[in-house]
Amino acid sequence: MPFLPPPPSRSKPLVAADAFSPVDLVGESASPGTGGEAPKVSNTVKGFEYRRWKMILYTIGTISQIVTLPLWPFFLAKQAKDWSIARNYFGTMRYCLKAIWDHVAYGSLGRMIKYNIAHGPDYVKNRIAQRRGACTRCAKCCRAFNCIFLGQDQSSGDYYCKVFGTAYWYYGTCGRYPIDQRDIDDHGCPGFSFLKGETPRKNGPAPTPRSLPVVGNN
Ligand code: SF4
Ligand code: SF4
Repeated sequence: MPFLPPPPSRSKPLVAADAFSPVDLVGESASPGTGGEAPKVSNTVKGFEYRRWKMILYTIGTISQIVTLPLWPFFLAKQAKDWSIARNYFGTMRYCLKAIWDHVAYGSLGRMIKYNIAHGPDYVKNRIAQRRGACTRCAKCCRAFNCIFLGQDQSSGDYYCKVFGTAYWYYGTCGRYPIDQRDIDDHGCPGFSFLKGETPRKNGPAPTPRSLPVVGNN
């Protein structure tokens, strides 16, 4: 039974990846005359243009924010428009310290550098254009480090992102994740895939497979 993503008409925003990228399930974009169905891709940069200089500045700015660590609970509360995050100062600080560690352990920091510094917007756009599938809203990638911005709709149980569509979402890694198989493997993402051999490898042997724990079982 082929995997089918959820319909794109839900009222809550999605989690990671892109809300405006429903899979072309009926192959309407198949090139005329090819006789075949178009590849099911998720081209996700519609409606938002990434700027190279912003990508670089965002990354440098994010990393340098480590010096303002004691103020992070207030920044997080403002970003999420939820001041209970600041009122629970010490709980939020504990979360921040663990989140820093988890962002390194689960590859988020590395991905931000990969997306924003190592590659420009065109490369990332090209990778996303080769991606198959759509976000299933399983939130594995968010729950891996217990993201404080993850919300859950009480009535439907759907996960959603409280900072969807913000600069954090776009210029962090959430809005573009995943761009290759390594990204998928980091969180066991069930929604996307790349055809074997599509990930361009520069010189050298194929990397050793990574084995990071998968959170949840959706
Ligand atoms: S792990 Fe993949 S499918 Fe699940 S929420 Fe993240 S991007 Fe979507
Ligand atoms: S900000 Fe948090 S909740 Fe939102 S998509 Fe990213 S990891 Fe998920």
